[in-house]
Amino acid sequence: MLNHRALRPFTSLLARLPSQCEVCRAWPSQPVCDACVSRFAPPAMRCSGCALPVPEGVARCGDCVLHPPPLDACLAACTYAWPWPDAIARFKFRGDAGWAGPFATLLRSAPWVEPALEQCDIVLPMPLAPGRLRERGFNQSLELARRMAPAKTDATLLLRTRETPAQSGLARAERLRNLRGAFAVEPLRADQVRGKRIVLVDDVMTSGASLFAAADTLRLSGAAHITAVVLARTDPPR
Ligand SMILES: [Zn+2]
Ligand SMILES: [Zn+2]
Repeated sequence: MLNHRALRPFTSLLARLPSQCEVCRAWPSQPVCDACVSRFAPPAMRCSGCALPVPEGVARCGDCVLHPPPLDACLAACTYAWPWPDAIARFKFRGDAGWAGPFATLLRSAPWVEPALEQCDIVLPMPLAPGRLRERGFNQSLELARRMAPAKTDATLLLRTRETPAQSGLARAERLRNLRGAFAVEPLRADQVRGKRIVLVDDVMTSGASLFAAADTLRLSGAAHITAVVLARTDPPR
């Protein structure tokens, strides 16, 4: 009989080698093959304010018409649905940095992301509070930003002063209240935001409350234009 315990170090090593697509097991491949990207992250029509899917010809969803978000544009590469949640968890919580490159490529190939990166002055990753950063060891949004726009990425201009408890189950107004004061612009460099075009990068957008709170903070410091670029957008609650 095979000794599975003895095999474990070997299989975990295999999982790190760029051999098989993690989704369809095609071989050889980077963590996810091109065929799976076009199948599971097809370009989609999305609301310009919050990146929810919208029918062709519709620019904004009802929520964004009623409560215009503080973003000039919001772009998402894929829907937060199989196979992405697993892959994102591996990247984010297990520090599997092998995913940063493929995810950055996925982001860059989403509609309008490339022009947004070209036209902006600064790319800001959504920051983690210092405690969360210590615990996780890296900021997944910074890894994505760096790979998309190394020369424009600034990891210290936007600060997260505190993490907020899980937001699910809260109404929109409560979420925003929870997040008040959770972001700040580095006081010594506040002038570097004024009049600038900014791209904010995040891995997963759920309610959008954190991105909106960060964007509000940047607006107050005089940002001229803010585009959010997110890897995965959750579907609307039903
Ligand atoms: Zn594949
Ligand atoms: Zn919307």
